This record gives sequence, structure tokens and C-alpha cells, in this order.
Amino acid sequence: MQTIDQFDFSGKKAFVRVDFNVPLDEQFNITDDTRIRASLPTINKILKDGGSVIIGTHFGRPKKVDDSLSLKHILPRISELLGLDVLFANDAVGEEAATKAAGLNPGEVLLLENLRFHAEEEGKPRNLPENATEKEIASAKRAIQESQKDFAKKLASYADVYVNDAFGTAHRAHASTTFIAVYFDRDHKLFGYLMQNEINAVEKVLKNTQRPFTAIMGGAKVSSKIGIINNLLDKVDNLILAGGMTYTFAKAFGGKIGNSIVEDDKLELAKELVEKAKVNGVKLMLGTDAKIADSFSNDAKTAYAPVNEIPDGWEGLDIGPKSEASFAEVIKNSKTILWNGPPGVFEFENFEHGSRAVAEAIVAATEKGAYSLIGGGDTVACINKFGLADKVSYVSTGGGALLEFMEGKELPGIKAIRGY
Ligand code: AMP
Repeated sequence: MQTIDQFDFSGKKAFVRVDFNVPLDEQFNITDDTRIRASLPTINKILKDGGSVIIGTHFGRPKKVDDSLSLKHILPRISELLGLDVLFANDAVGEEAATKAAGLNPGEVLLLENLRFHAEEEGKPRNLPENATEKEIASAKRAIQESQKDFAKKLASYADVYVNDAFGTAHRAHASTTFIAVYFDRDHKLFGYLMQNEINAVEKVLKNTQRPFTAIMGGAKVSSKIGIINNLLDKVDNLILAGGMTYTFAKAFGGKIGNSIVEDDKLELAKELVEKAKVNGVKLMLGTDAKIADSFSNDAKTAYAPVNEIPDGWEGLDIGPKSEASFAEVIKNSKTILWNGPPGVFEFENFEHGSRAVAEAIVAATEKGAYSLIGGGDTVACINKFGLADKVSYVSTGGGALLEFMEGKELPGIKAIRGY
């Protein structure tokens, strides 16, 4: 497999799959262009070599052509960031796109319209009648999957080389992330810088681990993190479980949790995870004290209580000072750190203290030489809120893709390029 640094794009046309699914306001202004900036190094390397670029991306979740999800809204910003006039094809496939791609000169860039305007991109049937039978559904699925290959082939026909820089969609087997790669030989498909950096970061944590390895899992629910917790229990030395899931564990062991968020159908699972940690010799740490509130609001009345003695009418919205101190101690002595999920409702100023303490402990460990990987939408928002993103080793752009990768699953977008 070639790396992007090794490949000479001179005179070549590259199809670059990016994730430019940026948020827009009501006037179609981009409110956060991080995702576009993240792929600029890849595009610029190709242009600098003397190649040309065909950009493909999805945008939102359209179920048909939808002007509000047209990429023409973000075209000016892409041109501005690249410092050139990016061309636009009003449809990702068809004569216009094919002609414009064929006519690209070195140094030029063509942006294709939203790939998801075509059902073939995701390969899922659309507009099935509500009363469709199972047989009809199965046959519609077969039909769309057949045409998905043709769609991928058309996209592939525009270019000499395929570059995947869309880590955020690497867990989806879509036409432009996976099927397209079949039409390029192994020396003409490669990862962009962003994708390569994401893969390196995860592999540094999971495969080339410096110990002690500590994972901090937080967030609202244990149910959305079971896969990753299970996988990590085979890998980490310390597992800190915090956030809303604390109370499912506290209740499972007979604690009183008041109105705290809980998943009653996961009490047995909580016990099993504690047992697995014991068997594997993993130090599993749960918060011991909580900052509690008399309602789910920033202005609620607050107090501190042990996580298993929360009075009725109160709920735990953050870790307390004792948990902060014990978590920080372990984090600061770690050499590899993974953080996914805030330990409290950091969106409320009065309940951000625990998240800040965790973030600061990670920064301190990183300063002492630890490798720290932060990921998951809310956790990234959290570290950005504290202005500490540039003080950790790597902040992942992947949400679902990162979680699945961390669960140990094979991501179709990665497999399509390197074959495993
Ligand atoms: P997740 O997407 O699962 O990582 O969940 C992130 C969300 O969990 C954040 O928006 C936090 O506000 C929320 N969260 C963290 N701790 C708690 C808690 N104790 N109770 C309710 N929500 C929480």
C-alpha cells in the first residue's frame, strides 16, 4: 500500500472522499469549518505535486435531491480556504460531472454535488411504500446494491487514483467510501493525511500501548458504550467509568440513586462488567461522590453526596471532589490515555468542574510524556470548551467511526484500501 507522502500525483486526477458535512445556520453560513480544514493538507499535497482533485462528500441526510443540502452552499468557503476557484458539478454523476472531471487541468479542483442525493451512495432503498412486503423490501435492496456498484464505478471513472480522507464515515460501507476502491489497483488507492493520522492515533493506543493505559468512559448511558467497554477491558490497566452510567452501576450494587439517570435493563450487565474487570485484573474505578441537583438545570439547587446515597428528588450531574482527586491521580500516572464521554453535564457551567478536572489531569499527563487520545462528539466539544484541545496528543474527528474502531471492529473504509 502506498502512503500519500510516497505517491507522486503529478499529472494525475485524484478522487478524494472527504467528510465536509459541516454545520450551517439558517442563512446557509458555515458555523464550524473544522471538517473542511481537516482535509486541506491532503488536497493541497495533491495540487502541489501537480495533480488535480475531484472532491466527493456527503452532506446531511437527504432522502432525495434537496436544495438546502446542496454543496453549492459551501463551495465559496472551500474556494476561499484553498485559495482558488473550485469548479462545481450539479450532479455527482452524469455528463456534466464526467466532462468537467475529464477537462481538469493540474492544480484544478472540482467539487461534486452531494453524493447522498443518490440512494446508491448508501445502498439503501428509498421511497418504499409503507405496506411493502418483506419480499419487496429484499428485492428493492438487491436492486439498489446492484446499482450501487455502477454508481461507484462511475465515480471511479473520473480519476486515476482514489484517496479516502473521510474517517467520519469509515464505518459505513458506502459507494464512495468502500465500493469505489475495487476499481483501483493497490498502488492507486490510499489514505489521506487525516485518515492516516486517525488510524495511527487509534493504533498507537490499542496496539503500541505504553503502560499504564487508562481509559475514561463517560457520557449519558452505558448502553451506547458496551462494545467499547468490553473491548477495553481486554486492553487497559485502569478503566474509569463516570458520567450518567455511574448510577446504573451504583443501583446494580444496591445503592440509592434518587432521580439520577439509570438504565434498569442494564443492571446485570453492570455487574458482569465489574466481574470481567476483576477476572482481567483491570482496576475499574467508579465515582464515589457526586455533585447532585434538585432538577436537571444549571440553576438547580446543588449539594454533594455519595453516589449510592442520593436522596429522592435529587440527581447526580457531576462527579464530586473525592472522585475528581482519585481519577486525577490515576490519570496523571498513566502513559496512554483514552477519553470518551464527559464525566458530568459539562454543558451546564455549574456541573462542568469534574470534566475540567479530568481534562486538566490528561493535559498534565501529556506534558509528562503520555499519549492521549480524545474522541466522541461531546468529548471534543468539552475539551474545546476548556480551550485544552491543543494540549492533548490527538483529538479525533470521528464519532461512530472512532467508537467502532475502538470496539475492535474492522471499518469498511479502511479495509477497502489496505485489505484488512
Ligand atoms: P455521550 O454522547 O454518551 O458521550 O453522552 C454525552 C452526554 O452525557 C453529555 O451531553 C453530558 O451532558 C451527558 N452526561 C454526563 N454526565 C451525566 C449525568 N450524570 N447525567 C446525565 N447526563 C450526563
